[in-house]
Amino acid sequence: MTALPPIREVIARHGLSASKALGQNFLLDEQLLARIAAIPGDLSDRAVLEVGPGPGGLTRALLKAGARVTAIEMDRRCLPALAELGEAFPGRLSVIEGDALKLDQGAAMGGEPFAVLSNLPYNVGTALFVKWLSGEQWPPQWTSLTLMFQREVAERIVAQPGTGAYGRLAVLAQWRAEAKLALKVHRSAFTPPPKVMSAVVHISPAEAPAGVSARVLERLTEAAFGQRRKMLRQSLKGVPGALDALARLGIDETRRAETLAVADFVALARALHQNQ
Ligand code: SAM
Repeated sequence: MTALPPIREVIARHGLSASKALGQNFLLDEQLLARIAAIPGDLSDRAVLEVGPGPGGLTRALLKAGARVTAIEMDRRCLPALAELGEAFPGRLSVIEGDALKLDQGAAMGGEPFAVLSNLPYNVGTALFVKWLSGEQWPPQWTSLTLMFQREVAERIVAQPGTGAYGRLAVLAQWRAEAKLALKVHRSAFTPPPKVMSAVVHISPAEAPAGVSARVLERLTEAAFGQRRKMLRQSLKGVPGALDALARLGIDETRRAETLAVADFVALARALHQNQ
């Protein structure tokens, strides 16, 4: 591997002024980037999908960790910098120009299991996260998700019942996966610094509970948390069979959604699925 110039220099040389519209806040600190790349464990010769490589700070850390990286970037101004990085790691980096929300990930990764790592563009982060976690196929093709979010969103993902942060994202992330807050990142670590703090969450698939449809669970949490201040008997009124299922499971219908454990939502979704 040839010596690589600091990312700050790469940004300057390629004139990569950060675009707000594309959610660009770059990470330049190599130590921090190496710590993020280490979160999923040993990456040697593993396939990694990176969303939004930008000038390539995290990409470089992933390559140094031995990964084979497929990176999708929407901003074509970044492509020459990424091409240079690819030359320094021959055959290990493939860059796709495009929108990650539209990517056929299975095809892009050649059917191989892959880890996802990304300093996500905040404007598309949640949409991508929901897409990764809501497929009916489980375990999914991805083996882990290591994702930077605004800290408030990261806290919602790992939230426990009875807290204000607990809601759809927590249930989605926890009902058949393990979600943990892996690293808090100060806003000053980014160039330019965003207004809010960030955090990296790490998600690994767990065994899916039997007899539960992701679609039914999604409908249930949408209704329950759509009116989170209301009692379940009100918020779940429009979900056919839900009130009967509450009674059968011995869940008090005067409770509110945020008091139910993830396992309660799973049991409800299973009962509804059996009814269909
Ligand atoms: N990975 C770099 C880093 O850590 O310094 C850049 C992170 S920056 C927060 C987000 C990157 O995602 C930007 O480079 C932006 O152009 C790119 N991006 C934004 N929307 C995208 C999308 N829909 N698909 C792919 N890349 C996108």
